[in-house]
Amino acid sequence: MQGTANKLTEGLNEAQAEAVVTLKGPMLVLAGAGTGKTRVVTFRIANLIRHGTNPDRILAVTFTNKAAGEMKERIGELIGGKQRRKPKRGEKPPPAPTVSTFHSHCVRILRQHAPALGYPAKFSIYDRGDQESLARSILRELRLPNAALSPNDMLFIISGWKNASIKPEQAVYEAATDKEHFAASAYRRYQQGLMLRGAMDFDDLLLQTENLFELRSDIRDEEADKFDHVLVDEYQDTNGSQYRITKHLTQKHRNFCVVGDDDQSIYAWRGADVTHILNFSKDWPDAKIVCLENNYRSTGEILAMANRLIGYNTTRHDKTLIASRPKGKRPRIQQHKDEIAEAQSVVRDIKMHIEGNHVQPKDIAILFRTNEQPRLFETELRKANVPYVMLGAQSFFDRREVRDLVSYLKWIEQPNDEVALRRIINTPPRGLGNKTIEILLGRAVKRGVPLWDIMNDPNETAELTGPAQRGIEDLQQLSKDVLHRSQNESLVAAMETLLSRTSFSTEVASRYDKPEEREARMASIGELTNAMGAFEDSNDNPDLTGFLGEIALSGREMGSEKDKLAKQNAVWLLTMHAAKGLEFPIVFMVGMEDGLLPHSRSVKSGNEDDIAEERRLCYVGITRAQETLTMSLALTRRKWGKPRPTIPSRFLYEIVGKADNPNKYRKKR
Ligand code: ATP
Ligand code: MG
Repeated sequence: MQGTANKLTEGLNEAQAEAVVTLKGPMLVLAGAGTGKTRVVTFRIANLIRHGTNPDRILAVTFTNKAAGEMKERIGELIGGKQRRKPKRGEKPPPAPTVSTFHSHCVRILRQHAPALGYPAKFSIYDRGDQESLARSILRELRLPNAALSPNDMLFIISGWKNASIKPEQAVYEAATDKEHFAASAYRRYQQGLMLRGAMDFDDLLLQTENLFELRSDIRDEEADKFDHVLVDEYQDTNGSQYRITKHLTQKHRNFCVVGDDDQSIYAWRGADVTHILNFSKDWPDAKIVCLENNYRSTGEILAMANRLIGYNTTRHDKTLIASRPKGKRPRIQQHKDEIAEAQSVVRDIKMHIEGNHVQPKDIAILFRTNEQPRLFETELRKANVPYVMLGAQSFFDRREVRDLVSYLKWIEQPNDEVALRRIINTPPRGLGNKTIEILLGRAVKRGVPLWDIMNDPNETAELTGPAQRGIEDLQQLSKDVLHRSQNESLVAAMETLLSRTSFSTEVASRYDKPEEREARMASIGELTNAMGAFEDSNDNPDLTGFLGEIALSGREMGSEKDKLAKQNAVWLLTMHAAKGLEFPIVFMVGMEDGLLPHSRSVKSGNEDDIAEERRLCYVGITRAQETLTMSLALTRRKWGKPRPTIPSRFLYEIVGKADNPNKYRKKR
């Protein structure tokens, strides 16, 4: 045990140690990038356990699944061998702290209590694609043309309201523009549509948990009583719901530790509110406040750039950030002829690092701002045969075949999930063409019941054609059989039934002419089965509900294939948003152009607050780099097929100290 004790304060400076040995009461660690905030959270959990806190009384909330995974691993290492051993079959695993994201913790709460809100406990979780189909059908019902309100706009506006905890009945009063008025009327139907389908979207996971706590103080207390300690990382990016949920969970025991950095608040567009961290000591007047000043991550030169840049933001908590590492190499800023030359040059450099300098691919990251940027890098990396893994952009689970299969599973699990049912109803064809579906849907709408209820009502299906009736029987039998195998054998076995009974692979293969395309599609199908197998191996009671919940949460961020690739050692392709909290020895920040970073939306709005948020995003990007940082831009970039000249990012001038700094003339706060 002595060794463990040493380890617990050994790797910490004085301020960090102070935070780690404080075992009670509210605490705030507000400090710049790379100062060891996440390390403090991890060590503090280990220390709590060492001082007798039962691990299962501790809840730690992180921002991404990747961060949660890393934290669990780290805690395991710190508290030593006993907890790390994988339990044998049938043996109860030792208690472990709960480390999860806000969303997955809310799923856990809602799976238990959703019926109190009128949702089934097995509610499905809608991803972007599901949301879009629901939005489209609502806009059709409302007879709103795309020009008046597109599904995208509708979801964007509604999500904004949800993140601000604005309910449908209040939204009418919030709406200012025409679009918002239309969205307000769609909002109520959208929520009803979700409920009718037994589904929640991502925003609902937080919002409905908050509702639940408001509605049922007994459930709120029950959930709060499960923990004696709550720790939250990246607290600067909590939104209203997250703020209130944690408040409910901590008010009684008051052992609430939050860490964060106001300079890294990058989710205001999604409802995050930096005042939650800045006002922490108002909410908790007796809070202990710890400041960390030593940056252990980046070399001096990288840090100097980051400090210079963030110094251009006018409203911020001025923090000292001291480099603990040597000066290192000066970061490079490279200009390229066009975006293809940029991608080729970056990939050439990467290849050189890997082959020439023996750098591990996983130690290299390419950071970009928008979803359109990675495609060219993917192409070049593939050509160069460099493995890569992408986070924050198009997900494995967005591929058509994967979405089809997941829809099957969702529908089998939750037959009222109409979006899922409609996706698979005639894929592969089974006599249920558009005309039949329209008839059935019309009846469902008229009677206000789910489509599947109509399909199971012999009175409603009596006059359908023979093939249509056989199609329905086929679906009924399929659902029964798959469910049966999933409950009595295994998920993988259930998947086999699903694949063979739908002739899924043959069907998919027939869609593609090119063999490599076919192969890639087949690989996705295989990969989903692999994900199921992995889920079964790592869970005590693996069932379909759990699996679907997990992929709904991870699909956004990390698919099984990505997980595997990441473990296999691959270059990271990340949005700057997804890179928050992570670190890499070698970082490429690409597309350093006005209109990309800062994003065109902020450039157009010209709003200083928007630009300031983009600047923080750029700061997050720079501070991910440990040793080598390369920023690049293309002098021309194709837009709508035509090359156009670009403007170098204004942040580049600031980084090199060549822009006028308004703060020079401003008094320090
Ligand atoms: P971010 O703001 O980006 O989330 P952070 O403040 O959470 O950063 P960490 O990720 O915890 O910082 O730490 C940054 C790096 O510094 C990590 O590699 C960590 O292991 C290392 N580090 C932190 N504290 C110390 C220390 N006292 N001695 C040596 N290395 C440290
Ligand atoms: Mg961190």
